[in-house]
Amino acid sequence: MERSLTDIRANYETICENIALAASDVGRSASDITFLAATKTVDAAAINYAVSLGLRYLGENRVQELLSKYDAYDLEHASLHFIGHLQTNKVRAIVGKVSMIQSVDSFRLAREISLRSQSLGIVTDILCEVNIGGEESKSGVLPERTEELLFEVHTLPGIRVRGLMAIPPICQNAQENCKFFDKMRNIFLDISSKNIDNISMDFLSMGMSDDYTEAIKCGANMIRVGSALFGARHYNI
Ligand SMILES: *Cc1c(COP(=O)(O)O)cnc(C)c1O
Repeated sequence: MERSLTDIRANYETICENIALAASDVGRSASDITFLAATKTVDAAAINYAVSLGLRYLGENRVQELLSKYDAYDLEHASLHFIGHLQTNKVRAIVGKVSMIQSVDSFRLAREISLRSQSLGIVTDILCEVNIGGEESKSGVLPERTEELLFEVHTLPGIRVRGLMAIPPICQNAQENCKFFDKMRNIFLDISSKNIDNISMDFLSMGMSDDYTEAIKCGANMIRVGSALFGARHYNI
């Protein structure tokens, strides 16, 4: 499927403008917000074109797809994150290749990332994924279990917890969205205030194509945008 580079350029510019507007609405600047592009199903040429426009963060959510595109990404100019559900037995394949794993939701997974990182002599940044809607079908740690999980993982030597990530339930309107985003911000601030060793609440990663401006207004400082940048996804790769 051919993606129009002209569209990507226009979309990129629009998103950057929207980020700046939303940030200024809440007294922040665009540079406080990390714009990560969710790149699933997008070919490396289109991804690297966005990087040439200034995009600095890429997020893949399938291990196999990440590995198949790995050699083609322009990682001299962009950092690669893993943002999808990660099975323990796939950890080995991506540690050392990604600069952050945003989807850590169990001690077992955190320990595996830590062990693998140690064996490479590195420390891997992670975010803890919170199942903010408490949805049965979704990954992520439950909100009420989040702090407990952080206390379990904070001494693992091969990881550094940098914040929280969430994919809220699909909502009918912005107001409903904000309820979940607000809840995430409260957990984020609460954990920040506890100053737990080896846990820095630097990133609150939430907001996607349909709701990233609301997310920013509710305190997100990292957004993950896919289709609004690259166009609708076609699952054919
Ligand atoms: C696909 C994806 C996104 C972006 O979704 P869009 O609605 O296309 O912006 C964000 N986060 C994760 C974890 C994703 O898998």
